[in-house]
Amino acid sequence: MLDFAKLGADFSTLIHTQSLDNPFLIHKNTQLYTELDLSLTDEQLVKISTGEQKFENTPPIASIYAGHQFGYFNPQLGDGRSCLIGQVNLQELSLKGAGITPYSRQGDGRAVLRSSIREYLCSAAMQGLNIATTKALTLVGSSTEVYRENLEMGAIVMRVAPSHIRFGHFELFASRGQTAQVKKLADFVIGHHFSELSGPHKYVDLLMEVVKRTAVMIASWQAQGFAHGVMNTDNMSILGLTIDYGPFGFLESYDPQFICNHSDHEGRYSFDQQPGIGLWNLTRLAEALSSLIDAKQAKTILQAYEPQLIKTYSSLMRQKFGLTQQHEGDHQLINQFLELLRKHKKDYTNALRGLADLEQLSTDAHFSSWLSLYDQRLTEEKSSQRVALMNSINPRFILRNYLAEEAIREAEDQKRYDKITTLFDLLSNPFEEYSGFDDYTQEAPDWAQGLSVSCSS
Ligand code: AMP
Ligand code: MG
Repeated sequence: MLDFAKLGADFSTLIHTQSLDNPFLIHKNTQLYTELDLSLTDEQLVKISTGEQKFENTPPIASIYAGHQFGYFNPQLGDGRSCLIGQVNLQELSLKGAGITPYSRQGDGRAVLRSSIREYLCSAAMQGLNIATTKALTLVGSSTEVYRENLEMGAIVMRVAPSHIRFGHFELFASRGQTAQVKKLADFVIGHHFSELSGPHKYVDLLMEVVKRTAVMIASWQAQGFAHGVMNTDNMSILGLTIDYGPFGFLESYDPQFICNHSDHEGRYSFDQQPGIGLWNLTRLAEALSSLIDAKQAKTILQAYEPQLIKTYSSLMRQKFGLTQQHEGDHQLINQFLELLRKHKKDYTNALRGLADLEQLSTDAHFSSWLSLYDQRLTEEKSSQRVALMNSINPRFILRNYLAEEAIREAEDQKRYDKITTLFDLLSNPFEEYSGFDDYTQEAPDWAQGLSVSCSS
């Protein structure tokens, strides 16, 4: 029985998974597979990955939660199309797309191939970038047809994380006035994931830990140019993991107001809003924990968010610019560079990767006066490791939308999955030079300029 299931019927429901027709393994994360210490044939793995076979006889469950979606409270969501099917080596295994659950509402419980490829690849990309994330073990396709705007192939991703608990789990019980359940859930999270927090202030410490982890996660998003797209509180992990990859996008041409989700008309979740939304979401979590933490204390804890975020972001950005020491003018120097990127519509990732090669950069007239400031700043650095440092934090490979789209087109139209494998390998090691893969570092070609992603998945 799953540990989460032991919390009882208020928290989750036993379900029957609905497998896919003619399932086939498109990709498996072999490194993760090894880390989990599994020994299954691929045939068994496909059966488990589609819910056709139970994992070690574990009954699957779907959990209930609520959440603030685009600023409005939705009192009942839940795992509409995902379920927990097992746990191994302190990790939960979860399927996304294995059929309806009691929380599916109007949904069909399915996930389509296109969005499953995106989730699968982005999980690997985030891991490669050293950003806290849920992981993905398998990607399985099928002959099951799923209706969205068109008929599409049904697919399942198996996710792996120490816990899939979201802020919304706490919000559900708090909104119903079920304070005993809020406490039970908080005790569960502490007991299983923060066992070092056992003292008399453990709930305060828990909130502090979530605040810090969330701040670090979002600072890392900002530094690496990741936009989540749907930062609803039901998509916020209590462990500070990036979770629920939908209409996400990486910054390409640098625009801080970048909105990756075509359905986000107001830009609530635009790139530069993410740090503020993180705090807004944490404030909703603190409210949900108000039966355990007094309001004044909660307020103090929330005040730790911004300094933590700024500290982490500044440290990451300094590393991205090859600066090992902290100087007063660094912030300004970095911002001036970003402003040049914005003004001249430069690619964020490539511009930063290119910064290691000063000779190359000096051929671009837009940067000449900034470059002399940077040159001067570098004279104050003693490190001879500048290029190595920068190349270990400025990626060559990110999951550009057009690259994901090419992999999706190949999979959908030709039933070929080679590009998924190539992208998975490059994104898992995004800092490597790998010769022969320059194509994968290119900016979006003309055909991809109008690409948009929405919540449809
Ligand atoms: P999301 O916007 O993907 O975070 O989903 C919000 C909620 O809707 C979550 O509780 C999902 O489990 C649920 N959901 C999304 N898509 C489906 C679907 N096709 N079938 C059932 N539930 C879904
Ligand atoms: Mg979600």
